[in-house]
Amino acid sequence: MTEFRERRGIVTDIQRYSIQDGPGIRTTVFLKGCPLRCGWCSNPETQKIEPEEMLDARTGKAVTVGREMAVCEVLDVVRRDKPFYDGSNGGLTLSGGEALLQPAFSEGLLWAAKEEGIHTTLMTCGYAKFDAVWPVFEQCDLILFDIKGMDEEKHRAHTGVSPLPIHENLEKLLAKGKAVIVRVPVIPDHNDNKDALQAIVNYASSAGVSSIEFLPYHRLGESKYQRLHRKYPWKGISQVNAADLSKIVNRLDAPKGIKLIVN
Ligand code: SF4
Repeated sequence: MTEFRERRGIVTDIQRYSIQDGPGIRTTVFLKGCPLRCGWCSNPETQKIEPEEMLDARTGKAVTVGREMAVCEVLDVVRRDKPFYDGSNGGLTLSGGEALLQPAFSEGLLWAAKEEGIHTTLMTCGYAKFDAVWPVFEQCDLILFDIKGMDEEKHRAHTGVSPLPIHENLEKLLAKGKAVIVRVPVIPDHNDNKDALQAIVNYASSAGVSSIEFLPYHRLGESKYQRLHRKYPWKGISQVNAADLSKIVNRLDAPKGIKLIVN
């Protein structure tokens, strides 16, 4: 399928030797563009789909973030670390922004990786029209699916969208038998309390999820907002301490067999 290898997309960054973005050692490809606007986003440079200027952290000079690449060009980078993937059960992770916003490119890249025996993981916010992005999901060995909360009003206020289409997509993926791990960013003033996290666990377990990872909020992306000349919506809000979060998670009621992990 030469056509798949020639598809083009806008890439923000390619990060080798990632160990937080799925099993084993991975190369994470960050695409540009996201339909959400989470106030706590640590990758604001991935939100707009168009390439844009950002000040470089080291030199202070303006650089362009986002460049058009073909599937085969990205794969040339990804395949360099195949021995590491093979030795660690790692592979390629497609992230964002939101990779489902560039479905043709994402499908092509994941397909091409699988053709070379590389394990494929997608990190997604889950907000998309299911039928339009099913061909992308089909190429995934594993899907890391964000659930940011069950409170519709807060979800709309803090991310810009309703959670309902996201939940529907999660249920459809599970019904189709895809391997899914739910990831929950734990965010102050949004969902950092026992009741909010319990509501997520109740929903996810009733939908058939068997593994949930909780990710404590951090402020590592804050300086990027200044470098993009944007205001950080979560300014002044404290980071979530992983040990404190573990105490809350340990007090949650979870059905037998469901794994709750604090990352
Ligand atoms: S879904 Fe992810 S990339 Fe998109 S705005 Fe939210 S945190 Fe940022």
